[in-house]
Amino acid sequence: MRFDVLTLFPDFFTSPLKQSILGRAIERGFLEVRIHNIRDFTTDRHRTTDDYPYGGGPGMVMKVEPVVRALESIVPHRDDSTKVILTTPQGELFDQAKARRLAELERIVIVCGRYEGIDERVREFVDIEVSVGDYVLTGGEIPALVLIDAIGRLVGGVVGDVDSVKDESFSRGLLEYPQYTRPEVFRGLRVPGVLLSGNHSEIELWRRRESLRRTLQRRPDLLEKAELTEEEKRIIDTLKHHTEDRHRRDTPQ
Ligand code: SAM
Repeated sequence: MRFDVLTLFPDFFTSPLKQSILGRAIERGFLEVRIHNIRDFTTDRHRTTDDYPYGGGPGMVMKVEPVVRALESIVPHRDDSTKVILTTPQGELFDQAKARRLAELERIVIVCGRYEGIDERVREFVDIEVSVGDYVLTGGEIPALVLIDAIGRLVGGVVGDVDSVKDESFSRGLLEYPQYTRPEVFRGLRVPGVLLSGNHSEIELWRRRESLRRTLQRRPDLLEKAELTEEEKRIIDTLKHHTEDRHRRDTPQ
């Protein structure tokens, strides 16, 4: 899969794209990431990329022409295998389901805004507007890295062990079960005995139950959308009853 990123700050990407799993995936050719400096697509002597907002107000607005010129040069012909994403806090919230859908594409072009954002007319030249959360960052470079990381790791060959992306948080609409590694005891805190038992069906059942418990406690909203088996629904009912019982016992009458 290929990513093209349009940015005013190309150096932002140098180190993150060299590290760990992403770095190896790029080195081995599973992912290709090309960073393009929007300034290279200006035509004036001062290489201007931003200007004052029409109507007044604080800050600067990124100009539409260099961005559109960059897009037209990088993707002269669009088809269904390519999508152009504009990073903006006003876009659709990015989540694992979107990451999974976007990982099916051959090519993704990401436009990073800065300052007060980009001239509104750039929206006519993009396919999707994506937000990484309900907060405002100084630029689209961190969101672009979030997209490359979350989408890239779902591309075949990027994460060595395919099972590790199958089971993790959000993959089935649930949070993942708790993870432990050595030592068995740390300052009196023990690893749950079942994980040391070697009994794989017990471990599997424990993990399923803990994944459901965790989702129920921390993100009950996810359970409304998750596709649960009958057995999982029964486990949730039992977990809810236990919680209600404990609440009744702890509440002074
Ligand atoms: N004035 C804009 C507004 O209120 O919607 C915010 C502009 S922000 C300071 C500058 C750039 O950072 C945006 O154009 C966008 O590319 C990026 N950005 C900031 N927060 C983001 C978020 N939550 N998700 C995606 N991109 C974001």
